[in-house]
Amino acid sequence: VNWFEERLYPDVQQRHKILKVLHELKTDFQKLVIFESAVFGRVLALDDVVQTTERDEFVYHEMLTHVPILAHGQARKVLIIGGGDGGILREVLQHKTIEKATMVEIDPGVVELSKKYLPTICGKAFEDRRTDLVIGDGARFVAETKERYDVVIVDSTDPAGPGEVLFGEPFYGNCRRALTERGILVTQNGVPFMQGEELTNSFRRMRPHFADVSCYLAHVPTYAFGAMALGWASADPENRRQSRETIAKRYQSSGIRTRYYNGNLHMGCFDLPTYVQVLLK
Ligand code: SAM
Repeated sequence: VNWFEERLYPDVQQRHKILKVLHELKTDFQKLVIFESAVFGRVLALDDVVQTTERDEFVYHEMLTHVPILAHGQARKVLIIGGGDGGILREVLQHKTIEKATMVEIDPGVVELSKKYLPTICGKAFEDRRTDLVIGDGARFVAETKERYDVVIVDSTDPAGPGEVLFGEPFYGNCRRALTERGILVTQNGVPFMQGEELTNSFRRMRPHFADVSCYLAHVPTYAFGAMALGWASADPENRRQSRETIAKRYQSSGIRTRYYNGNLHMGCFDLPTYVQVLLK
């Protein structure tokens, strides 16, 4: 039997029993592996770090998408940075009110192989007429775009390799510029129990550019060793002060189908354990 051993941390590992390696490729940007696992279905790993799995992808993709879109209430244009597997795109496109979803992914190999081997994640999202797929560096895109977006979703790898630039202050400042007046930025910000410094760094780098900066939590089994933090940065503090009734109404009328996200969880996910609050000081 062979095992996939994650290499995100030097002294502790999660590992998954490999039933079959479906594809292995060294792209221009990273090492890509897609394998059939015994417990989590098909798994996508980049540079030996679990990115997404068929079995638990819904948690992360729902929470990184529906919390900002339903908090905003009138989102029409969404920018996705990264997200090559198409899961975020699929969730964004569930909202009939979204007119355009621009996705900037640096590695075309991730998109092509996700379409081929992970159809349960991307579905038909890449073929949707509202999808605008751009192959390129997300940091460069936000520095140059003249467009304005209601929500920017950074579905990046961890801050190493091509993803590192997506955790820098210039990037966050340019995301603010690419957002509308009430715009919301949300980010993949690691497992604070293990990657606390990353969260503190992101918070410090977002702070100068946004009126309201915080994070919210989601329990993603394969982002191992604790709950995952999703960064929140909004130009308008009102976005995080929506009432329970407003969120419930918006969730209801959106008609979206979810297996993790719900209105009450939307209100509760911003309540943080003390050790996470300390990281945001
Ligand atoms: N959900 C995963 C997680 O939380 O770790 C991340 C999913 S997605 C596979 C991460 C994507 O970010 C990858 O497809 C990677 O190619 C892309 N990426 C990394 N650096 C990037 C950059 N600078 N610009 C655009 N996309 C980037």
